Amino acid sequence: MKQTELFTKTTKENPKDEKSINAQLLMRAGFIDKLGAGIYSYLPLGLMVIENIKNIVREEMNKIGGQEILMPSLHPKENWEITGRWGVEEMYKIKDENLGLGWTHEEIITPLVKKYASTFPKYIYQIQSKFRNEPRAKSGILRGREFLMKDLYSFHKSEEDLNDYYEKVKEAYFKIYERCGIKEKTFLALASGGEFSSSFSHEFQTITDAGEDNIYTCKDCGCSFNEEVFESRCDCGSTQFDKRKSIEVGNIFKLGDKYSKLFKMDNIVMGCYGIGITRVMGAIVEVFNDDKGIIWPKEVSPFYIHLIELDTDASEIYDNLQREGVKVLYDDRQKSAGEKLSDCDLIGIPIRIILSKKTIEKNCVEIKRRGSDKIELIEINKLIEFIKNEL
Ligand code: ATP
Ligand code: MG
Repeated sequence: MKQTELFTKTTKENPKDEKSINAQLLMRAGFIDKLGAGIYSYLPLGLMVIENIKNIVREEMNKIGGQEILMPSLHPKENWEITGRWGVEEMYKIKDENLGLGWTHEEIITPLVKKYASTFPKYIYQIQSKFRNEPRAKSGILRGREFLMKDLYSFHKSEEDLNDYYEKVKEAYFKIYERCGIKEKTFLALASGGEFSSSFSHEFQTITDAGEDNIYTCKDCGCSFNEEVFESRCDCGSTQFDKRKSIEVGNIFKLGDKYSKLFKMDNIVMGCYGIGITRVMGAIVEVFNDDKGIIWPKEVSPFYIHLIELDTDASEIYDNLQREGVKVLYDDRQKSAGEKLSDCDLIGIPIRIILSKKTIEKNCVEIKRRGSDKIELIEINKLIEFIKNEL
């Protein structure tokens, strides 16, 4: 993609009404635009990241038997009256008093599976916009009032089968966080089962100062607890814990027969498993940044290479990289070197390649990785081979 054609704009100043690092950097780098508190538009760069995260989630969900569907955002009142959750504080209602905006989908998926499934187990998921009346939407895309979530629901004939599947989802989630680059910072924390489930649930908590939660990690065995269960002294018996700020990037929950019973599905137990797609994107930015901008992990980055020409023409290199199928953003703008390089750092693509009069004299391009200061010179005719080895 040529940068002159890209629908975006970078800015030097931080937006006045955003305190969170994720929103500041994503807005300044031209990934998202703020429309209101907790409401954002995703520009092409931002949407590319979202699509990358969605694809990772999709691949890992499909590997454990998930089938993707898409449910509506507008929900009839009657479904929610069955579970007694019509009008909870999260729910936005619209003028039509018989419709509300979906903030979760148990009320829709349960009758849907009842209608279409004749054999079990079934694992059905979607990636869709959720709407929540969040009173404190001040953490950028970590807490949206409209946000993207992947929600998977599983339906089983026995508790045992649910328990087995729950463990599979746990593993799949770790693979997702690994591919998103945040596994090292992400801990599985024991959480309460909530009002509908007698057992415990698990949260995937990513350590970051921007986090709105706290987790307690045992210094001996590494097991972690969220604040709620830790304070009710449900710990591992150790006395040594690290308390750290974190953000919940996903959770898994055994629902038992709460919903299946209410929707009159006989002898079925359920699990539900959420991942905040846009929140994961925000968490990645919170974890990977420096004073110059974002540092995208390879698999979620909108492009793999940022090719910059300085007082010369790099279009031949761009064409060659394109032909090889390499995702490259080509800075063909007529701007100063300083501006191009600071935009490049702000946007945060993993590999920067510069072609300038100076490098051409040596028949080379200059290569630098985002987040490192090391600069390498590579011969122009060996560039494709070099990049292919990196992919
Ligand atoms: P939180 O405690 O942070 O409000 P939650 O317990 O309400 O989260 P769930 O209802 O279980 O979250 O939603 C599943 C996942 O969706 C969460 O793990 C999180 O990653 C994401 N999520 C929840 N609320 C938001 C939001 N307002 N904005 C972005 N992502 C969210
Ligand atoms: Mg919530």
